[in-house]
Amino acid sequence: MTSPLRKPLVAVPVENRVYHRSLAAHREDRGAIATHDHFSRTPKLSLRNVSLSYATNSHNQLVALKNINLQVQTGEFLCIVGPSGCGKSTLLHLIAGLHQQSSGDVLVDNTAVQGPGTDRILIFQELGLFPWLTVAQNVEFGMRMKNISRPQREAKVREYLRLVHLHQFKDNCIHQLSGGMRQRVALARALATEPDVLLMDEPFAALDAQTRDLLHDELERIWAETQRTIVFVTHNVREAVRLGDRVVLLTFRPGQVKREYRIDLARPRHLEDVHVAGSAREILNDLREEINESIEEEYGLEANA
Ligand code: ADP
Repeated sequence: MTSPLRKPLVAVPVENRVYHRSLAAHREDRGAIATHDHFSRTPKLSLRNVSLSYATNSHNQLVALKNINLQVQTGEFLCIVGPSGCGKSTLLHLIAGLHQQSSGDVLVDNTAVQGPGTDRILIFQELGLFPWLTVAQNVEFGMRMKNISRPQREAKVREYLRLVHLHQFKDNCIHQLSGGMRQRVALARALATEPDVLLMDEPFAALDAQTRDLLHDELERIWAETQRTIVFVTHNVREAVRLGDRVVLLTFRPGQVKREYRIDLARPRHLEDVHVAGSAREILNDLREEINESIEEEYGLEANA
């Protein structure tokens, strides 16, 4: 049984909201409701009754996602949590247009996703940076693919490297950078293509705690400055509460939306903040039920093997 939610964490139904925010305003207003809501007619992303099955080796189907209904508003920071194998990455790949749903609709700006597009970009843990290119050349790479003129590319490289505080490292090679700096290069490269939607798949999971804290601060600031829509997948509930306007919890296989939580904590937030910890604890209680299910299934599979 899940316990009823207490303030400052509030479970919310899916609804038409758009969040506008300014970190400066939140600083002045700490302790108050952090997000300013405006109703929006069209969500940025919309998943309607989306299911996805994978064909397995034995010609069986593995239902990874089942009847997902989810809306993400323009400028919203949505975090998705759930036990390993519940379909979090699959969900991001669907939105990115890298996978095709078995049924249902995946819409961006009310238009069906037909495949990858420059309006959505996926950032993942492995980063995919090119080690033979400099920092600036890596950031420039996506823009070259879009045939953007050289002066424009150079201006954008300067702008986005400054945004992630790496402009002094523009001529460095990737191997000369720390893990946190590489992650910031990947972020600058993604932002430089000016996508509306950033899809982030456990981007900070491999980083040490201190670097991750710094990147949380940077990402929150960049999000506030650029007004991007972010869908952020993590297995770390506290990270989700630290960053998200809303946290969606998926069930263990098949992945379904178990519950949504509106996070009304003032920004900027900190991982160690008592309210962040309290809200994370409540979500973790719900998540534990799903983790137990996954363990039971693993044991069941072992027993039948
Ligand atoms: P998560 O990101 O939550 O760990 P995934 O989206 O990676 O989960 O995977 C969901 C389920 O789908 C898992 O059981 C995984 O083994 C399975 N799966 C993922 N990709 C494939 C694939 N290409 N073919 C078959 N099964 C897959």
